[in-house]
Amino acid sequence: MKLNEIMLKNDVTLSFEVFPPKVTANYEAVEKAAYGVAKLQPSYMSVTYGAGGSTRGNTLKIAKGIQEEYGVTTIAHLTCVGATKDGIRQALEEMKAAGIENVLALRGDRPKDFEGEPFTDYHYASELVADIKEFGGMCIGGACYPEGHVESQNTHEDIQNLKKKVDAGCEFLTTQMFFDNNIFYNFLCRVREAGIDVPVIPGIMPITRPSQLQNAIKLSGCNMPIRFRSIVDCFGNNPEAMQQAGIIYATDQIIDLIANGIRHIHVYSMNKPEVVRGIQESLSKII
Ligand code: FAD
Repeated sequence: MKLNEIMLKNDVTLSFEVFPPKVTANYEAVEKAAYGVAKLQPSYMSVTYGAGGSTRGNTLKIAKGIQEEYGVTTIAHLTCVGATKDGIRQALEEMKAAGIENVLALRGDRPKDFEGEPFTDYHYASELVADIKEFGGMCIGGACYPEGHVESQNTHEDIQNLKKKVDAGCEFLTTQMFFDNNIFYNFLCRVREAGIDVPVIPGIMPITRPSQLQNAIKLSGCNMPIRFRSIVDCFGNNPEAMQQAGIIYATDQIIDLIANGIRHIHVYSMNKPEVVRGIQESLSKII
């Protein structure tokens, strides 16, 4: 099923992201974790794509398995960094053959070991969006950044570029993680002012380990509210307490989003069924 149909049909959707294994040796353990999330029957699930296509086969295998074994619709991520037009067409043919109807079209970042120029056939995600649109038959999503993309001079420029991506055929946007909902509300106002009218799905990351927090800040440059920093300072050395506090903080963000009229929320569940279960249980009377 296409995600735009799911979003129209359901009042509120709560979806979860999983990632495929980087090396084949870990396949079974990762598949088990991803299927553990699928068993909990979220509205849909997304499956990420390793840097420069390093997990391509596994992304598709896990996305297909989730749909076929658990009846949960999936969206496969696809990046165009280092890719050729022919390679992208082949990837889309493979998705179609696997029954995947939703794709998150991303530029990606230069892979660490990539030699040469990684942006030849594609420079930005909007070009990938246009090619997927031309290929046809897919519901296309894209990424956006409430605190600005790290390469952007400013958020105004970033939102103007986002508009190009939507104009190219992007049907919804999923945000980078954020830990202060006011940042999201402010971003949403600016996106709407710029004439972008597709659904903007907030991405929520439950932080259950202090190292996850450091990675999140390093990768996305996102702002960390003092309130959350104090939680990590206090419970960071107690794994069970940190997990509980991380789930509660993320759930609190989700409740606030729903209370403020946001209908579709995506959770970066990091292949942790126990985190997904914790969030779902805390929302059982709300969703
Ligand atoms: P773009 O939309 O192309 O934007 C990249 C930069 O270029 C921005 O600064 C933008 O302002 C600028 N720009 C865009 N268009 C133009 C233009 N026409 N002219 C000038 N400047 C322009 N990475 C992975 O490798 N695998 C994943 O599975 C993955 N999943 C993700 C999921 C989400 C929800 C998010 C938020 C990110 C994800 N990423 C993933 C990370 C993403 O690939 C990186 O953040 C990457 O740096 C940007 O990708 P993009 O698609 O947002 O790029």
